[in-house]
This record gives sequence, C-alpha cells and structure tokens, in this order.
Amino acid sequence: MPPERLHWAHLYDEVVTTGLCTGCAGCIVACPYDVLGYDSSGGRYRPFHVEADGGAAGCTHGERGCTLCARSCPRFRSWEPEVDTFLFGRPRDESELSGIAREVVLLRATDPQLRANGQDGGAVSAMLVWALEHGIADAALVSGTAGSGPGASAGSGPGAGWQAVPVVVRDRDGVLATSGSRYTYSANTLAAAEAVAAGAERLALVGMSCMASVPATMAARRAGKVARRFALTIGLLCSKTFDDRIFDELFAARYGLERASIVKMNIKGVIQLWTSDGGYHEVPLKEAHAWTREGCTTCPDFAAEHADVSAGGIGAFPDWTLTLVRTERGAELVGAMREAGALEARPVADDPGVLALLGRLSRASRRRWPAGADPAPRRIPVTAS
Ligand SMILES: Cc1cc2nc3c(=O)[nH]c(=O)nc-3n(C[C@H](O)[C@H](O)[C@H](O)COP(=O)(O)OP(=O)(O)OC[C@H]3O[C@@H](n4cnc5c(N)ncnc54)[C@H](O)[C@@H]3O)c2cc1C
Ligand code: SF4
Ligand code: SF4
Repeated sequence: MPPERLHWAHLYDEVVTTGLCTGCAGCIVACPYDVLGYDSSGGRYRPFHVEADGGAAGCTHGERGCTLCARSCPRFRSWEPEVDTFLFGRPRDESELSGIAREVVLLRATDPQLRANGQDGGAVSAMLVWALEHGIADAALVSGTAGSGPGASAGSGPGAGWQAVPVVVRDRDGVLATSGSRYTYSANTLAAAEAVAAGAERLALVGMSCMASVPATMAARRAGKVARRFALTIGLLCSKTFDDRIFDELFAARYGLERASIVKMNIKGVIQLWTSDGGYHEVPLKEAHAWTREGCTTCPDFAAEHADVSAGGIGAFPDWTLTLVRTERGAELVGAMREAGALEARPVADDPGVLALLGRLSRASRRRWPAGADPAPRRIPVTAS
C-alpha cells in the first residue's frame, strides 16, 4: 500500500463506482465501526456506506485515520503483485496464467457420501470436514441456500430455493448439507461475523476466486485482527456468477423449468439442469449472458489465484475435482489427507487437455480487466496461444 492514508473515499472512487468491485465483502468484514453494509438486491452485490458517519462516498472514521476497508480490498490498486509476493515470495511470471501453484492434480473424496453430495469429486467438502475434525478450523464459511443450511438433513441438496446465501458450518453434517454448487453469488465472507460471535478462532473460507483473495489481501496489508482468523482458504474456479433472477426470467420463462423442480445444476460449456422428474436439460451459456452479475464482467481471476487450494470441475472427468495446490498450508492439508486416505489422487496427465483449457479460461478472464486500471493483471500475453 502506498504511504498515503487510503480509506473508504478512495475505495469508493477507485473500485466501487468504477466497475472493479466484485462484491466479495472483504471491506465489510474488515470494518471495525460497522458503517459498511451489503446490498444484494436487484443484482447489485455491492458494499455501501451508511448515511451517518460520512454518507455514501465518504467516511468520518477514514478521515480520522482508519484504512482497514481499503487494505482489505482485493481489487484496490496493485493488489495482484502485492498478494502474489506476500503468498509466494514473488509476483507471478508471464507464463503463470492461472497464478502460482506448486501442484496441479485431480482429487476426489474417498468418503462415498461426501463424493455423492459434492459437485465434482467432493474434494472441497472432504477438505472442510478434515479441517474441522483435525483442529485446523473451528468453523467454515460456505454457501447454503435461503431456507437450507446446516440444519437441513444431510444429502438434501440445495433445496427448492437455489438462492445462494453465506452460512457457517461446524461439522460433517453441516458440510454435507451445503456441498454442491449454486451459480448465484454468495459473499461467504459475510458469515465471518456470525462465526466469530459464536466463539470461532480459526475460520475456513470457501469462496469464488474474487473472495478467495480476501484473506491473503488482508494479511498482506495487515488489515487488522480478522485477517489472522482465516486458517484455510479454498477457492472455486470461476468465470462468472449469475443474478438470482435467471431462475424466473430464463429457466422458468423460456424453458418451463421452475426453480423448485431443479435438483442439480452444473456448467460444462452449457448450463446443465437436472429436474426432480428425472429430466436433463441444457441451456446455452450465451442465452444466460444477460443475467451475468455486473461484478464479474471485469474480473481477471479465473483460477482463485490467492487461495491455499483452488478447485474446479473442468476437464474430462466429471467426478474428480481439478485441484491447484498453491501455498504451504494447502500442501500440508492435501498431503496429510492423501496420506491418511481421505483423498484419492490421479495425475493431471491422465487428462491431457485440461491444462490447456485452464490456460484458455484464465486468459479469457484476464482480458476482462480494464486497460485503465492497475496494469498487472493485463501483463499476461493475452494473445499468445
Ligand atoms: C458460481 C460457481 C461458478 C463456478 N464456475 C466454475 C468454472 O467456470 N469452472 C470450473 O472448473 N469450476 C467452476 N466452479 C467450481 C465447481 O463447480 C466446484 O465447486 C469445484 O469443482 C469443487 O467441486 P467439489 O465437488 O470438490 O466441491 P464440493 O465438495 O461440492 O464443495 C463445494 C463448496 O462450494 C460452496 N459453494 C457452492 N456454491 C457456492 C457459491 N455460489 N458461492 C460460494 N460458495 C459456494 C459449497 O458451500 C461447498 O462448500 C464454480 C463453482 C461455483 C459455485
Ligand atoms: S471488491 Fe470486495 S473489498 Fe473491494 S470494494 Fe468491492 S466488496 Fe469491498
Ligand atoms: S467471475 Fe467469479 S471470481 Fe470473478 S467476480 Fe465473478 S464471482 Fe467473483
């Protein structure tokens, strides 16, 4: 961070109102004065400043020296090289399109229930259960759906709501009830307040790429005590999320698929929808563009590049999780789980096309970063094959 005292007014001018804001809620989680709120109505997914204490564009606490929101934002100024250097000791080089990783491997849970409930190989759920049962984390911030959550019965799936919401889970049943993917945005970081209020000291966070940069950004820029609570960050590969209106305005209106009838969703080149009557339906991705969240349209990070471990579903094997092990913490977790037989692995070479696909998708995301913003995310040679 530059030496000036940068605060909400700068964040508002340079990120919130310029289209760079992803809605990751890092700024809200870091704010010690509770003057930032989150607006997820009407497809906005943005932080806002309360009218008292400075109005929409200013902050009286910021003017008096508080800089925590700006320090926590993974889109503010030169976030990418700063966080790369903090996590890996150097900024990425131009060949590292998907960020810095020490291993890329295919993983799946060996526990059959975790695998069955998981979106791909259930590896993320297995890591959460391991972290909760081995003293790495005492709460995990994940996504449930409105009306589901840790209280839902194991294996109940995402339920009829499909509206992703942040929830706290503390055990295997909670992890099972919230596994799988919802394709609307859920600022899981916001669940930190509930977890901490209930006494959690060490948090595991699951989040989209944008959110997965929050803990490392906070730590790199020393953004207060909350940074030290994040004990494990699992990032999900992501090229976009949708606004919740897609269920009524596209799936129901154009395809007659009511949200209550949808039991599973996936995106593999097309939107795949499975319904409770045993039906399977495909919706072309280009038809869904109109419901892409605005915050995703400038996002350069496909591969959750600042997570401890990043996980995705691309490639030839639908029941395996493509996993990028990035940090020492991530390597220790995955190594211990493999040794204990909680995760099964196969080499990424078993799927010869997957690394090239990862590169193409990462490059496509990096092209979205606006030319006028910090140059680092566009430094990658986007025209090379
Ligand atoms: C919105 C979205 C877009 C994605 N896009 C891609 C993509 O383009 N390419 C790709 O390879 N992979 C993508 N993924 C990742 C993929 O769907 C799987 O999450 C990943 O492969 C891990 O699979 P798993 O079986 O190990 O995870 P699981 O064991 O099923 O665990 C998944 C975890 O994700 C959490 N989660 C679910 N939905 C959300 C949400 N909306 N927001 C935050 N957390 C959530 C769950 O609570 C759970 O903890 C996306 C995921 C999501 C949620
Ligand atoms: S990108 Fe995240 S931290 Fe930055 S202003 Fe938006 S919500 Fe806040
Ligand atoms: S594309 Fe994914 S990672 Fe990027 S802003 Fe959208 S939700 Fe976040």
